[in-house]
Amino acid sequence: MKKVRCPKCGNTITFDETAYPEGRVLIFGCPDCKKTFKIKLLPKADDDRVPLGFLSVVENQFHNRQTIPLYMGENVVGRYVKGSQANASFRTLDPSIDTTHCIITVQEDKRGRLRFILRDAPSNTGTFYQNEILKDVDRVYMEEQSVLTIGATTLIFYLNPEQKEVAP
Ligand SMILES: [Zn+2]
Repeated sequence: MKKVRCPKCGNTITFDETAYPEGRVLIFGCPDCKKTFKIKLLPKADDDRVPLGFLSVVENQFHNRQTIPLYMGENVVGRYVKGSQANASFRTLDPSIDTTHCIITVQEDKRGRLRFILRDAPSNTGTFYQNEILKDVDRVYMEEQSVLTIGATTLIFYLNPEQKEVAP
């Protein structure tokens, strides 16, 4: 059995994932607030690591839509180049994105809840969280569906709905 959380009221809904193939989009109706929402059953990663969250890279003139999985530890986000050390890089022609632009650290708090902590790498053009530029010293706890802007590119943060709760 798997659990999903209602994006509106946070109610947890349990379902039998074995009844559906991987990659299938499922539609849920929340019994509490009546919101309807979709989730996609994610295929398991080859290396057994389970993504704890995702960055959805919004398509623009520099690249197609892409999804960056986020794992426990440091996720270094930037423009992919051959030999890149950035483990969460993506393919783009956006020249204002550094090859190491910003870093999202995923960790657990004392109660076992996840935290996604964003900081600028630092980059040349800055990292914007919810339209606010981060100072070098800033460390931001990212919230579900928050918007990250680097260069001319927008990324939206999502939790993996199969994972545990995020610390508020
Ligand atoms: Zn609900």
